Amino acid sequence: MSLIPDDVIEQVREAADIVGIIGEHVELKRTGSDFRAPCPFHGGTHRNFAVIPRKGMFYCFVCHAGGDVFTFFMKKLGMDYPTAVREVARRAGITIPERGPTGPDPREPLYSAVAAAADWFARQLRESPEAQVARDYLTTRHLDLETVQPLGLGYAPRSKAFLDAMKGLGVRDEVLLEAGLLARREDGTLAPRFRGRLLFPIHDVRARVVGFGGRILGEGEPKYLNSPDTPIFHKGKLLYNLHLAKHAMRKAERAILVEGYFDVLRLSLAGIEEVVAPLGTGLTPEQAQLVKHHAPHVILLYDSDEPGLRATFRAGDELLREGLRVSVATLPAGEDPDTLGQKKGVAGLEEILKDAVDVLERKIQILDRKGFFGTLPGRRRALDRLLPTIRAAKDPITRELYLSRAAEAAGVRKDVLEREVGDAGRSTTSPVLHRPAPTSTVLPASAEKALVLLMLEGEPWKSRVAEAVDPEELEFPPYRAVFESVADDAVLALDDTSARAYELLKAEGLGGRDANEMYELAVNWLEARRLERQMERLDDQLPFETPDRQASLLAEKRRVFDELRKRYPRYKIAKRRRGAPGT
Ligand SMILES: [Zn+2]
Repeated sequence: MSLIPDDVIEQVREAADIVGIIGEHVELKRTGSDFRAPCPFHGGTHRNFAVIPRKGMFYCFVCHAGGDVFTFFMKKLGMDYPTAVREVARRAGITIPERGPTGPDPREPLYSAVAAAADWFARQLRESPEAQVARDYLTTRHLDLETVQPLGLGYAPRSKAFLDAMKGLGVRDEVLLEAGLLARREDGTLAPRFRGRLLFPIHDVRARVVGFGGRILGEGEPKYLNSPDTPIFHKGKLLYNLHLAKHAMRKAERAILVEGYFDVLRLSLAGIEEVVAPLGTGLTPEQAQLVKHHAPHVILLYDSDEPGLRATFRAGDELLREGLRVSVATLPAGEDPDTLGQKKGVAGLEEILKDAVDVLERKIQILDRKGFFGTLPGRRRALDRLLPTIRAAKDPITRELYLSRAAEAAGVRKDVLEREVGDAGRSTTSPVLHRPAPTSTVLPASAEKALVLLMLEGEPWKSRVAEAVDPEELEFPPYRAVFESVADDAVLALDDTSARAYELLKAEGLGGRDANEMYELAVNWLEARRLERQMERLDDQLPFETPDRQASLLAEKRRVFDELRKRYPRYKIAKRRRGAPGT
Protein backbone atom coordinates (compact mmCIF):
# COMPACT_ATOMS: atom_id res chain seq x y z
CA MET A 1 0.00 0.00 0.00
CA SER A 2 1.62 3.24 -1.08
CA LEU A 3 1.82 6.36 1.06
CA ILE A 4 -0.73 9.05 0.24
CA PRO A 5 0.51 12.66 0.42
CA ASP A 6 -0.84 14.77 3.30
CA ASP A 7 -2.35 17.41 1.06
CA VAL A 8 -4.30 14.78 -0.86
CA ILE A 9 -5.65 13.32 2.39
CA GLU A 10 -6.61 16.84 3.39
CA GLN A 11 -8.41 17.40 0.11
CA VAL A 12 -10.30 14.13 0.53
CA ARG A 13 -11.32 14.98 4.07
CA GLU A 14 -12.57 18.40 3.01
CA ALA A 15 -14.57 16.98 0.14
CA ALA A 16 -16.03 14.12 2.17
CA ASP A 17 -19.68 14.31 3.11
CA ILE A 18 -19.40 12.78 6.58
CA VAL A 19 -23.14 13.05 7.23
CA GLY A 20 -23.96 11.30 3.96
CA ILE A 21 -21.36 8.57 4.47
CA ILE A 22 -22.26 7.74 8.06
CA GLY A 23 -25.94 8.16 7.15
CA GLU A 24 -25.62 5.10 4.93
CA HIS A 25 -25.00 3.01 8.02
CA VAL A 26 -27.34 4.57 10.57
CA GLU A 27 -30.43 6.70 10.42
CA LEU A 28 -29.29 10.21 11.36
CA LYS A 29 -31.64 12.82 12.79
CA ARG A 30 -30.69 16.47 13.02
CA THR A 31 -30.40 18.01 16.47
CA GLY A 32 -29.22 21.62 16.33
CA SER A 33 -26.07 21.77 14.23
CA ASP A 34 -25.28 18.07 14.81
CA PHE A 35 -26.83 14.77 13.83
CA ARG A 36 -27.80 11.94 16.18
CA ALA A 37 -28.43 8.22 15.71
CA PRO A 38 -28.37 4.95 17.63
CA CYS A 39 -24.71 3.92 17.84
CA PRO A 40 -23.63 1.45 15.13
CA PHE A 41 -20.66 0.33 17.23
CA HIS A 42 -22.19 -0.81 20.50
CA GLY A 43 -25.62 -1.39 18.96
CA GLY A 44 -27.57 0.92 21.26
CA THR A 45 -31.17 1.90 20.72
CA HIS A 46 -30.98 5.50 21.99
CA ARG A 47 -29.56 8.35 19.98
CA ASN A 48 -26.24 8.58 21.80
CA PHE A 49 -24.15 8.64 18.67
CA ALA A 50 -23.37 12.13 17.34
CA VAL A 51 -22.04 13.26 13.96
CA ILE A 52 -20.63 16.77 14.19
CA PRO A 53 -20.21 18.04 10.63
CA ARG A 54 -18.58 21.35 11.53
CA LYS A 55 -15.73 19.43 13.16
CA GLY A 56 -15.82 16.58 10.64
CA MET A 57 -16.06 14.05 13.45
CA PHE A 58 -18.33 11.51 15.15
CA TYR A 59 -18.58 10.44 18.80
CA CYS A 60 -20.63 7.98 20.87
CA PHE A 61 -21.42 9.12 24.39
CA VAL A 62 -21.93 5.52 25.56
CA CYS A 63 -19.15 3.39 24.06
CA HIS A 64 -16.93 6.42 23.29
CA ALA A 65 -16.11 5.34 19.77
CA GLY A 66 -15.08 8.49 17.92
CA GLY A 67 -12.98 9.93 15.10
CA ASP A 68 -13.18 11.38 11.64
CA VAL A 69 -14.63 10.06 8.40
CA PHE A 70 -11.61 7.80 7.82
CA THR A 71 -11.76 6.38 11.33
CA PHE A 72 -15.41 5.54 10.73
CA PHE A 73 -14.53 3.20 7.87
CA MET A 74 -11.62 1.73 9.81
CA LYS A 75 -13.76 0.97 12.86
CA LYS A 76 -16.96 0.01 11.04
CA LEU A 77 -15.57 -1.98 8.14
CA GLY A 78 -12.15 -2.96 9.47
CA MET A 79 -10.21 -1.07 6.77
CA ASP A 80 -6.66 0.14 7.29
CA TYR A 81 -5.95 3.87 7.03
CA PRO A 82 -4.89 4.09 3.36
CA THR A 83 -7.83 1.91 2.26
CA ALA A 84 -10.25 4.10 4.18
CA VAL A 85 -8.78 7.23 2.56
CA ARG A 86 -9.11 5.66 -0.90
CA GLU A 87 -12.69 4.62 -0.23
CA VAL A 88 -13.70 8.11 0.90
CA ALA A 89 -11.80 9.59 -2.07
CA ARG A 90 -13.65 7.32 -4.48
CA ARG A 91 -17.00 8.53 -3.15
CA ALA A 92 -15.93 12.16 -3.30
CA GLY A 93 -14.76 11.66 -6.89
CA ILE A 94 -11.11 12.42 -6.11
CA THR A 95 -8.37 10.46 -7.81
CA ILE A 96 -5.45 9.53 -5.62
CA PRO A 97 -2.15 9.47 -7.49
CA GLU A 98 -0.27 6.18 -7.21
CA ARG A 99 3.32 6.74 -6.22
CA GLY A 100 4.78 3.34 -6.87
CA PRO A 101 5.43 0.57 -4.38
CA THR A 102 6.78 2.00 -1.15
CA GLY A 103 5.56 -0.56 1.34
CA PRO A 104 3.80 0.12 4.60
CA ASP A 105 4.73 3.09 6.77
CA PRO A 106 7.32 1.80 9.28
CA ARG A 107 5.90 4.17 11.88
CA GLU A 108 2.52 2.41 11.81
CA PRO A 109 3.16 0.51 15.10
CA LEU A 110 3.85 3.84 16.84
CA TYR A 111 0.57 5.35 15.67
CA SER A 112 -1.29 2.24 16.83
CA ALA A 113 0.41 2.25 20.23
CA VAL A 114 -0.37 5.94 20.84
CA ALA A 115 -3.97 5.44 19.69
CA ALA A 116 -4.40 2.47 22.06
CA ALA A 117 -2.90 4.51 24.90
CA ALA A 118 -5.19 7.47 24.14
CA ASP A 119 -8.26 5.22 24.33
CA TRP A 120 -7.08 3.72 27.59
CA PHE A 121 -6.29 7.11 29.18
CA ALA A 122 -9.70 8.45 28.12
CA ARG A 123 -11.39 5.45 29.77
CA GLN A 124 -9.47 6.08 32.99
CA LEU A 125 -10.72 9.67 33.04
CA ARG A 126 -14.31 8.47 32.71
CA GLU A 127 -14.26 5.44 34.95
CA SER A 128 -11.29 5.08 37.25
CA PRO A 129 -11.94 5.97 40.92
CA GLU A 130 -8.41 7.40 41.09
CA ALA A 131 -9.33 9.85 38.29
CA GLN A 132 -11.83 11.58 40.59
CA VAL A 133 -9.07 14.12 41.23
CA ALA A 134 -8.98 14.86 37.48
CA ARG A 135 -12.75 15.05 37.19
CA ASP A 136 -12.85 17.41 40.18
CA TYR A 137 -10.13 19.50 38.62
CA LEU A 138 -12.16 19.84 35.40
CA THR A 139 -15.12 20.94 37.50
CA THR A 140 -13.05 23.70 39.10
CA ARG A 141 -12.28 24.90 35.59
CA HIS A 142 -15.98 24.79 34.70
CA LEU A 143 -15.66 21.96 32.22
CA ASP A 144 -18.07 19.01 32.15
CA LEU A 145 -16.73 15.55 31.59
CA GLU A 146 -19.40 15.17 28.92
CA THR A 147 -18.09 18.23 27.08
CA VAL A 148 -14.44 17.22 27.02
CA GLN A 149 -14.97 13.56 26.20
CA PRO A 150 -15.29 14.01 22.43
CA LEU A 151 -11.99 15.90 22.54
CA GLY A 152 -10.28 12.77 23.87
CA LEU A 153 -8.99 14.09 27.20
CA GLY A 154 -7.57 11.40 29.46
CA TYR A 155 -6.09 10.58 32.83
CA ALA A 156 -2.79 8.84 33.52
CA PRO A 157 -2.88 7.07 36.90
CA ARG A 158 0.00 7.19 39.36
CA SER A 159 0.31 3.41 39.40
CA LYS A 160 1.88 1.16 36.80
CA ALA A 161 -1.55 0.00 35.61
CA PHE A 162 -0.71 1.45 32.19
CA LEU A 163 2.07 -1.12 31.73
CA ASP A 164 -0.26 -4.03 32.44
CA ALA A 165 -3.02 -2.63 30.26
CA MET A 166 -0.73 -2.23 27.26
CA LYS A 167 0.72 -5.70 27.82
CA GLY A 168 -2.86 -7.01 27.82
CA LEU A 169 -3.42 -5.37 24.45
CA GLY A 170 -0.24 -6.91 23.08
CA VAL A 171 1.64 -3.62 22.63
CA ARG A 172 5.35 -4.28 23.04
CA ASP A 173 7.48 -2.34 25.54
CA GLU A 174 9.99 -1.31 22.85
CA VAL A 175 7.22 0.30 20.84
CA LEU A 176 5.92 2.13 23.91
CA LEU A 177 9.44 3.33 24.64
CA GLU A 178 9.91 4.60 21.10
CA ALA A 179 6.50 6.30 21.25
CA GLY A 180 7.60 8.13 24.40
CA LEU A 181 4.94 6.55 26.59
CA LEU A 182 7.43 4.68 28.75
CA ALA A 183 10.70 5.85 30.21
CA ARG A 184 13.62 3.67 31.25
CA ARG A 185 14.85 4.38 34.75
CA GLU A 186 18.50 4.32 35.73
CA ASP A 187 18.12 0.87 37.20
CA GLY A 188 16.82 -0.37 33.84
CA THR A 189 13.20 -0.80 34.87
CA LEU A 190 10.40 0.74 32.84
CA ALA A 191 7.91 3.30 34.12
CA PRO A 192 5.01 5.14 32.49
CA ARG A 193 6.06 8.63 31.41
CA PHE A 194 2.78 10.19 32.45
CA ARG A 195 1.65 9.63 36.05
CA GLY A 196 -1.05 11.51 37.97
CA ARG A 197 -1.73 13.84 35.07
CA LEU A 198 -4.68 15.11 33.06
CA LEU A 199 -3.79 14.36 29.44
CA PHE A 200 -4.52 16.36 26.31
CA PRO A 201 -4.08 14.28 23.16
CA ILE A 202 -2.04 16.06 20.49
CA HIS A 203 -2.93 15.29 16.88
CA ASP A 204 -0.99 15.65 13.67
CA VAL A 205 -2.54 17.41 10.71
CA ARG A 206 -4.08 14.07 9.65
CA ALA A 207 -5.97 14.01 12.94
CA ARG A 208 -4.02 11.03 14.32
CA VAL A 209 -2.97 11.18 17.97
CA VAL A 210 0.83 11.39 18.04
CA GLY A 211 1.56 12.46 21.62
CA PHE A 212 0.23 14.03 24.79
CA GLY A 213 0.49 17.11 26.92
CA GLY A 214 -0.04 16.29 30.58
CA ARG A 215 -1.00 18.66 33.37
CA ILE A 216 0.01 17.62 36.87
CA LEU A 217 -2.84 17.25 39.35
CA GLY A 218 -1.85 18.28 42.84
CA GLU A 219 1.75 19.01 43.81
CA GLY A 220 4.62 18.21 41.52
CA GLU A 221 6.88 19.38 38.76
CA PRO A 222 6.74 20.20 35.98
CA LYS A 223 3.24 21.60 35.77
CA TYR A 224 3.00 20.55 32.13
CA LEU A 225 4.84 17.60 30.64
CA ASN A 226 4.76 16.72 26.94
CA SER A 227 5.65 13.58 25.06
CA PRO A 228 9.34 13.63 24.11
CA ASP A 229 10.21 13.96 20.43
CA THR A 230 9.65 10.64 18.67
CA PRO A 231 9.51 9.58 15.00
CA ILE A 232 5.86 10.73 14.97
CA PHE A 233 5.90 13.56 17.54
CA HIS A 234 7.91 16.74 16.96
CA LYS A 235 7.02 19.35 19.50
CA GLY A 236 8.24 22.32 17.46
CA LYS A 237 6.38 21.25 14.32
CA LEU A 238 2.90 20.64 15.69
CA LEU A 239 0.19 22.97 16.89
CA TYR A 240 -2.43 21.92 19.40
CA ASN A 241 -5.90 21.68 17.81
CA LEU A 242 -4.71 22.41 14.25
CA HIS A 243 -6.43 19.26 12.96
CA LEU A 244 -9.80 20.73 13.96
CA ALA A 245 -9.05 24.43 13.59
CA LYS A 246 -7.67 24.39 10.06
CA HIS A 247 -11.07 24.32 8.36
CA ALA A 248 -12.27 27.28 10.37
CA MET A 249 -8.95 29.06 9.74
CA ARG A 250 -9.38 28.79 5.99
CA LYS A 251 -12.91 30.00 6.16
CA ALA A 252 -12.33 32.90 8.54
CA GLU A 253 -9.02 33.79 6.85
CA ARG A 254 -7.55 34.14 10.32
CA ALA A 255 -6.04 32.09 13.12
CA ILE A 256 -6.19 32.85 16.80
CA LEU A 257 -3.04 31.88 18.65
CA VAL A 258 -3.27 31.26 22.40
CA GLU A 259 -0.78 29.95 24.95
CA GLY A 260 -2.38 26.97 26.60
CA TYR A 261 -4.48 23.86 26.12
CA PHE A 262 -7.27 25.20 28.33
CA ASP A 263 -7.39 28.45 26.34
CA VAL A 264 -7.92 26.43 23.17
CA LEU A 265 -10.65 24.41 24.85
CA ARG A 266 -12.47 27.47 26.12
CA LEU A 267 -12.49 29.25 22.78
CA SER A 268 -13.45 26.25 20.71
CA LEU A 269 -16.21 25.26 23.13
CA ALA A 270 -17.49 28.83 22.83
CA GLY A 271 -17.72 28.27 19.07
CA ILE A 272 -14.58 30.18 18.07
CA GLU A 273 -12.94 27.33 16.26
CA GLU A 274 -9.97 28.82 14.41
CA VAL A 275 -7.81 28.57 17.54
CA VAL A 276 -4.43 26.84 17.98
CA ALA A 277 -1.60 26.83 20.54
CA PRO A 278 2.09 25.95 20.47
CA LEU A 279 2.98 23.06 22.73
CA GLY A 280 4.13 24.85 25.86
CA THR A 281 7.08 26.65 24.27
CA GLY A 282 7.67 29.78 22.24
CA LEU A 283 6.39 29.70 18.68
CA THR A 284 8.91 28.09 16.30
CA PRO A 285 9.48 29.04 12.64
CA GLU A 286 8.00 25.67 11.62
CA GLN A 287 4.84 26.38 13.60
CA ALA A 288 4.58 29.83 12.02
CA GLN A 289 4.79 28.15 8.61
CA LEU A 290 2.05 25.74 9.61
CA VAL A 291 -0.21 28.66 10.48
CA LYS A 292 0.58 30.37 7.21
CA HIS A 293 -0.46 27.28 5.36
CA HIS A 294 -4.04 27.81 6.52
CA ALA A 295 -4.60 31.53 7.15
CA PRO A 296 -3.08 34.90 6.11
CA HIS A 297 -3.79 36.70 9.39
CA VAL A 298 -3.08 35.80 13.01
CA ILE A 299 -4.53 37.30 16.18
CA LEU A 300 -2.32 36.72 19.21
CA LEU A 301 -4.35 36.25 22.38
CA TYR A 302 -1.84 35.84 25.20
CA ASP A 303 -1.81 37.03 28.81
CA SER A 304 -1.30 40.77 29.16
CA ASP A 305 1.35 40.57 31.92
CA GLU A 306 5.07 41.11 31.23
CA PRO A 307 5.95 37.49 30.35
CA GLY A 308 2.79 37.29 28.24
CA LEU A 309 3.76 40.41 26.32
CA ARG A 310 7.28 39.16 25.75
CA ALA A 311 5.88 35.89 24.38
CA THR A 312 3.40 37.85 22.27
CA PHE A 313 6.05 39.93 20.55
CA ARG A 314 8.39 36.99 20.05
CA ALA A 315 5.60 35.03 18.39
CA GLY A 316 4.61 38.14 16.44
CA ASP A 317 8.10 38.51 14.96
CA GLU A 318 8.16 34.83 14.04
CA LEU A 319 4.84 35.19 12.20
CA LEU A 320 5.90 38.42 10.47
CA ARG A 321 8.96 36.59 9.18
CA GLU A 322 6.58 34.23 7.39
CA GLY A 323 4.85 37.18 5.73
CA LEU A 324 1.70 36.92 7.83
CA ARG A 325 -0.40 39.82 9.03
CA VAL A 326 -0.28 39.90 12.83
CA SER A 327 -2.65 41.52 15.33
CA VAL A 328 -2.65 41.51 19.10
CA ALA A 329 -5.79 41.21 21.23
CA THR A 330 -5.48 42.57 24.73
CA LEU A 331 -7.05 40.83 27.70
CA PRO A 332 -8.01 42.69 30.88
CA ALA A 333 -5.28 42.46 33.55
CA GLY A 334 -5.23 39.16 35.38
CA GLU A 335 -7.37 37.30 32.85
CA ASP A 336 -6.44 34.61 30.38
CA PRO A 337 -8.69 33.51 27.51
CA ASP A 338 -9.96 30.64 29.66
CA THR A 339 -11.02 32.76 32.64
CA LEU A 340 -12.44 35.52 30.46
CA GLY A 341 -14.43 32.97 28.46
CA GLN A 342 -15.87 31.57 31.68
CA LYS A 343 -16.89 35.01 32.92
CA LYS A 344 -17.98 36.83 29.78
CA GLY A 345 -18.73 34.00 27.37
CA VAL A 346 -18.34 34.12 23.63
CA ALA A 347 -19.53 37.73 23.43
CA GLY A 348 -16.74 38.85 25.77
CA LEU A 349 -14.14 36.94 23.75
CA GLU A 350 -15.43 38.29 20.44
CA GLU A 351 -15.28 41.80 21.82
CA ILE A 352 -11.61 41.38 22.71
CA LEU A 353 -10.82 39.89 19.29
CA LYS A 354 -12.65 42.67 17.50
CA ASP A 355 -10.47 45.24 19.24
CA ALA A 356 -7.22 43.55 18.22
CA VAL A 357 -4.63 45.99 16.85
CA ASP A 358 -1.65 45.46 14.60
CA VAL A 359 1.38 44.08 16.45
CA LEU A 360 3.60 47.11 15.75
CA GLU A 361 0.81 49.45 16.79
CA ARG A 362 0.45 47.50 20.02
CA LYS A 363 4.18 47.92 20.72
CA ILE A 364 3.90 51.65 20.08
CA GLN A 365 0.89 51.87 22.43
CA ILE A 366 2.80 50.19 25.23
CA LEU A 367 5.92 52.31 24.73
CA ASP A 368 3.80 55.42 24.60
CA ARG A 369 2.00 54.49 27.80
CA LYS A 370 5.37 54.08 29.50
CA GLY A 371 6.34 57.57 28.38
CA PHE A 372 9.10 56.52 25.97
CA PHE A 373 8.22 59.11 23.34
CA GLY A 374 8.42 62.05 25.75
CA THR A 375 12.20 62.43 25.66
CA LEU A 376 14.94 62.14 23.07
CA PRO A 377 16.76 59.22 24.75
CA GLY A 378 13.38 57.60 25.30
CA ARG A 379 12.59 57.81 21.59
CA ARG A 380 15.91 56.24 20.77
CA ARG A 381 15.18 53.34 23.12
CA ALA A 382 11.65 53.04 21.74
CA LEU A 383 13.05 52.74 18.22
CA ASP A 384 15.43 50.03 19.38
CA ARG A 385 12.42 48.06 20.56
CA LEU A 386 10.47 48.64 17.34
CA LEU A 387 13.31 47.74 14.99
CA PRO A 388 13.17 43.94 15.45
CA THR A 389 9.50 43.94 14.52
CA ILE A 390 10.09 46.11 11.46
CA ARG A 391 12.98 43.89 10.40
CA ALA A 392 10.89 40.77 10.90
CA ALA A 393 8.16 41.95 8.54
CA LYS A 394 8.78 39.99 5.37
CA ASP A 395 5.72 41.14 3.53
CA PRO A 396 6.85 44.29 1.65
CA ILE A 397 3.63 46.23 2.19
CA THR A 398 3.63 45.57 5.91
CA ARG A 399 7.29 46.57 6.10
CA GLU A 400 6.70 49.86 4.35
CA LEU A 401 3.74 50.61 6.57
CA TYR A 402 5.80 49.81 9.64
CA LEU A 403 8.64 52.10 8.55
CA SER A 404 6.22 54.97 8.03
CA ARG A 405 4.41 54.37 11.28
CA ALA A 406 7.54 53.96 13.42
CA ALA A 407 9.13 57.05 11.86
CA GLU A 408 5.99 59.01 12.63
CA ALA A 409 5.74 57.73 16.22
CA ALA A 410 9.38 58.38 17.05
CA GLY A 411 9.61 61.64 15.11
CA VAL A 412 12.49 60.60 12.85
CA ARG A 413 12.84 60.81 9.10
CA LYS A 414 11.71 57.68 7.35
CA ASP A 415 14.77 57.40 5.12
CA VAL A 416 16.98 57.52 8.19
CA LEU A 417 14.99 54.78 9.80
CA GLU A 418 15.06 52.76 6.62
CA ARG A 419 18.85 52.82 6.63
CA GLU A 420 18.84 51.83 10.29
CA VAL A 421 16.67 48.85 9.53
CA GLY A 422 19.49 47.75 7.30
CA ASP A 423 17.84 47.58 3.96
CA ALA A 424 21.11 47.95 2.13
CA GLY A 425 19.79 46.64 -1.15
CA ARG A 426 16.85 49.00 -1.29
CA SER A 427 17.10 52.47 -2.80
CA THR A 428 15.92 55.14 -0.40
CA THR A 429 15.15 57.82 -2.96
CA SER A 430 12.52 56.42 -5.26
CA PRO A 431 11.75 53.23 -3.53
CA VAL A 432 8.61 51.40 -4.28
CA LEU A 433 7.42 52.36 -7.68
CA HIS A 434 10.48 51.17 -9.53
CA ARG A 435 11.02 47.94 -7.74
CA PRO A 436 9.84 44.86 -9.59
CA ALA A 437 6.43 43.81 -8.33
CA PRO A 438 6.75 41.25 -5.59
CA THR A 439 5.39 37.84 -6.48
CA SER A 440 1.95 37.18 -5.20
CA THR A 441 3.15 34.34 -2.99
CA VAL A 442 5.03 36.79 -0.77
CA LEU A 443 1.91 38.67 0.18
CA PRO A 444 -0.90 37.28 2.26
CA ALA A 445 -3.64 36.37 -0.15
CA SER A 446 -6.99 37.76 0.72
CA ALA A 447 -10.19 38.62 -0.98
CA GLU A 448 -9.99 42.15 0.38
CA LYS A 449 -6.64 42.80 -1.20
CA ALA A 450 -7.72 41.34 -4.53
CA LEU A 451 -10.59 43.79 -4.68
CA VAL A 452 -8.35 46.77 -3.95
CA LEU A 453 -5.90 45.64 -6.62
CA LEU A 454 -8.74 45.47 -9.13
CA MET A 455 -9.91 48.97 -8.25
CA LEU A 456 -6.44 50.26 -8.92
CA GLU A 457 -6.64 48.88 -12.46
CA GLY A 458 -9.00 51.73 -13.32
CA GLU A 459 -12.20 51.40 -15.34
CA PRO A 460 -14.21 49.31 -15.84
CA TRP A 461 -12.98 47.48 -12.74
CA LYS A 462 -13.19 50.48 -10.50
CA SER A 463 -16.91 50.88 -11.09
CA ARG A 464 -17.62 47.17 -11.00
CA VAL A 465 -15.93 46.70 -7.65
CA ALA A 466 -17.31 49.88 -6.13
CA GLU A 467 -20.78 48.74 -7.19
CA ALA A 468 -20.45 45.26 -5.72
CA VAL A 469 -18.64 45.96 -2.47
CA ASP A 470 -19.40 48.18 0.46
CA PRO A 471 -16.15 49.65 1.89
CA GLU A 472 -17.39 48.66 5.35
CA GLU A 473 -16.83 45.07 4.35
CA LEU A 474 -13.07 45.49 4.15
CA GLU A 475 -11.69 44.80 7.59
CA PHE A 476 -8.00 45.62 7.11
CA PRO A 477 -7.81 49.42 7.69
CA PRO A 478 -5.20 50.34 5.04
CA TYR A 479 -7.10 48.36 2.37
CA ARG A 480 -10.32 50.04 3.35
CA ALA A 481 -8.72 53.49 3.26
CA VAL A 482 -7.28 52.89 -0.20
CA PHE A 483 -10.56 51.44 -1.42
CA GLU A 484 -12.51 54.45 -0.24
CA SER A 485 -10.05 56.99 -1.58
CA VAL A 486 -9.98 55.41 -5.03
CA ALA A 487 -13.76 55.15 -5.13
CA ASP A 488 -14.01 58.85 -4.21
CA ASP A 489 -11.09 59.97 -6.39
CA ALA A 490 -9.47 61.30 -3.24
CA VAL A 491 -6.12 59.54 -3.29
CA LEU A 492 -4.25 62.71 -2.35
CA ALA A 493 -6.14 62.86 0.94
CA LEU A 494 -4.71 59.53 2.16
CA ASP A 495 -2.70 59.66 5.37
CA ASP A 496 0.96 58.68 5.24
CA THR A 497 0.48 55.04 6.09
CA SER A 498 -2.37 54.40 3.68
CA ALA A 499 -0.54 56.32 0.97
CA ARG A 500 2.33 53.84 1.27
CA ALA A 501 -0.14 50.99 0.98
CA TYR A 502 -1.57 52.66 -2.10
CA GLU A 503 1.82 52.99 -3.77
CA LEU A 504 2.77 49.42 -2.98
CA LEU A 505 -0.46 47.94 -4.21
CA LYS A 506 -0.23 50.04 -7.32
CA ALA A 507 3.29 48.74 -7.93
CA GLU A 508 2.23 45.16 -7.36
CA GLY A 509 -0.62 45.19 -9.86
CA LEU A 510 -2.39 42.02 -10.92
CA GLY A 511 0.86 40.23 -11.67
CA GLY A 512 -0.56 38.53 -14.75
CA ARG A 513 -3.55 37.08 -12.93
CA ASP A 514 -6.87 36.96 -14.71
CA ALA A 515 -8.93 39.96 -13.57
CA ASN A 516 -12.29 38.32 -14.20
CA GLU A 517 -11.35 35.30 -12.19
CA MET A 518 -9.95 37.37 -9.32
CA TYR A 519 -13.10 39.44 -9.24
CA GLU A 520 -15.34 36.41 -9.26
CA LEU A 521 -13.46 34.67 -6.45
CA ALA A 522 -13.15 37.72 -4.25
CA VAL A 523 -16.74 38.89 -4.58
CA ASN A 524 -17.98 35.36 -3.97
CA TRP A 525 -15.84 35.08 -0.89
CA LEU A 526 -17.20 38.30 0.56
CA GLU A 527 -20.76 37.38 -0.31
CA ALA A 528 -20.37 33.95 1.25
CA ARG A 529 -18.92 35.56 4.39
CA ARG A 530 -21.90 37.91 4.48
CA LEU A 531 -24.44 35.07 4.16
CA GLU A 532 -22.63 32.94 6.67
CA ARG A 533 -22.60 35.74 9.21
CA GLN A 534 -26.29 36.19 8.62
CA MET A 535 -26.83 32.49 9.38
CA GLU A 536 -24.69 32.80 12.49
CA ARG A 537 -26.74 35.74 13.72
CA LEU A 538 -29.90 33.72 13.18
CA ASP A 539 -28.36 30.81 15.10
CA ASP A 540 -27.54 33.12 17.99
CA GLN A 541 -31.07 34.47 18.09
CA LEU A 542 -32.91 31.17 17.75
CA PRO A 543 -32.72 29.74 21.29
CA PHE A 544 -34.25 32.85 22.86
CA GLU A 545 -37.32 33.19 20.69
CA THR A 546 -40.91 31.98 21.04
CA PRO A 547 -41.79 28.84 19.03
CA ASP A 548 -43.66 30.93 16.43
CA ARG A 549 -40.80 33.29 15.96
CA GLN A 550 -38.36 30.35 15.89
CA ALA A 551 -40.26 28.82 13.01
CA SER A 552 -39.98 31.99 11.00
CA LEU A 553 -36.29 32.37 11.86
CA LEU A 554 -35.69 28.79 10.73
CA ALA A 555 -37.45 29.53 7.47
CA GLU A 556 -35.28 32.60 7.10
CA LYS A 557 -32.19 30.56 7.82
CA ARG A 558 -33.15 27.98 5.24
CA ARG A 559 -33.65 30.74 2.69
CA VAL A 560 -30.19 32.18 3.41
CA PHE A 561 -28.66 28.74 3.28
CA ASP A 562 -30.32 27.92 -0.04
CA GLU A 563 -29.03 31.15 -1.44
CA LEU A 564 -25.55 30.34 -0.23
CA ARG A 565 -25.71 26.92 -1.82
CA LYS A 566 -27.39 28.03 -5.00
CA ARG A 567 -25.02 30.85 -5.68
CA TYR A 568 -21.87 29.20 -4.40
CA PRO A 569 -22.17 25.45 -4.86
CA ARG A 570 -18.41 25.23 -4.38
CA TYR A 571 -18.57 26.91 -1.00
CA LYS A 572 -18.61 23.48 0.52
CA ILE A 573 -16.83 24.30 3.76
CA ALA A 574 -19.87 26.24 4.83
CA LYS A 575 -22.16 23.42 3.82
CA ARG A 576 -20.14 20.76 5.57
CA ARG A 577 -19.61 22.77 8.74
CA ARG A 578 -23.17 23.87 9.25
CA GLY A 579 -25.23 21.23 7.54
CA ALA A 580 -28.48 22.02 5.82
CA PRO A 581 -30.80 23.65 8.32
CA GLY A 582 -34.14 22.14 9.10
CA THR A 583 -33.62 18.84 7.30
ZN1 LIG B 1 -21.54 3.50 20.99
